[in-house]
Amino acid sequence: MTRMAPRHGMLAAFACLLAGLLATSPALAAHARTAHAAKAAQATADDGPYYDADDFARVDKIDAHVHVHGAAARFMAQALADRMRILTINVDYGDFPPLVDQQAAAIALRRDHPGQAAFVASFPAGELLAEDWPARTLRELDAAAGAVGVKVWKNIGMELRDADGHYVMPDDARLEPLLGWIERRGLVLLGHQAEPLNCWLPMDQMTVRSDREYFTEHPQYYMHDHPELPGHEQILAARDRMLVRHPQMKFDAMHLASLEWDVDRIAAFLDKFPNASTDLAARLVHLEYQAAHDPQKVRAFIIRYQDRLLYGSDDSYGPADDDAAALAAVQAGWLADWRFLATDQPMTTTEFAQPFRGLHLPRGVIDKLYGGNARRLFPGAWDGGP
Ligand SMILES: [Zn+2]
Repeated sequence: MTRMAPRHGMLAAFACLLAGLLATSPALAAHARTAHAAKAAQATADDGPYYDADDFARVDKIDAHVHVHGAAARFMAQALADRMRILTINVDYGDFPPLVDQQAAAIALRRDHPGQAAFVASFPAGELLAEDWPARTLRELDAAAGAVGVKVWKNIGMELRDADGHYVMPDDARLEPLLGWIERRGLVLLGHQAEPLNCWLPMDQMTVRSDREYFTEHPQYYMHDHPELPGHEQILAARDRMLVRHPQMKFDAMHLASLEWDVDRIAAFLDKFPNASTDLAARLVHLEYQAAHDPQKVRAFIIRYQDRLLYGSDDSYGPADDDAAALAAVQAGWLADWRFLATDQPMTTTEFAQPFRGLHLPRGVIDKLYGGNARRLFPGAWDGGP
């Protein structure tokens, strides 16, 4: 199991230490009373009730961004036990199996787990440059029976180049037949364009450990070292021009729309594109980072955009992961994410130094993030089954 996302663990020792301090320090106890009163007022405003950590196992949920390869019998059994339905997403990514194999596996997964597993198809970006584009690609996508969307990956904007050396950008006119095909079928375009802003920063200025690791391991995508390539704003501006041309198209801006470092920027994007949603996949850590500094701001952002946000883990799970440790890692990630979103537990992470607390979002908001929004964006995807 791998996750581009960062994992965090709650340090029970820290919680005990904090409890001890609160018990012995009048100043801290007074602070705690004030915080408690503020939280009570907030709870009234939010119209609770709330879930606790144990509710994770009791609530029906959807992880709207995973990459499951092969039959993944143990993974699917764990997901079923955890009441977690999944959306597995095919990607034109060299670290994954060939797309034709990903697609066959996804079709089989959906067939074998009706109502549990839905999938998103993709296409080899290089076909854009081929003479028989788009006919061949649309034929291949026609064969992806049951797909609820199509993913366009970051290789558009960061990797694929024309014969003259120009980078193919997300607003490239050659993508239009594909976008029309998606719109006519009422499917969703899922876009992962650009990368976290950290990708354009020096290593020592990156906010989270997992980004430092990923870009150390994948130097070809570390844009700070490639100033000759399109910049972060340039890629996202091209994406936005594409969206302006397709105001009715359903769009899932994956990874917090690559605006993960600032909830104000994500909010501006969602305001500008009312048909867009965004997923939290592999970027929840960036909300945790912001919550460590300004928890109320992050909480208010999620509550305001509660109809537009999809929970996703970005877990990758394949045949090599079919063991208890990999499953435990998947479940630990799901649980940690739940604690951050649903509870007000004190938390720490190996991603950055500052402690933070869970956001304690009301049940109604959690239910939307963990399922309601995905079911609305991908109607019918999880119908039937258990
Ligand atoms: Zn992913």
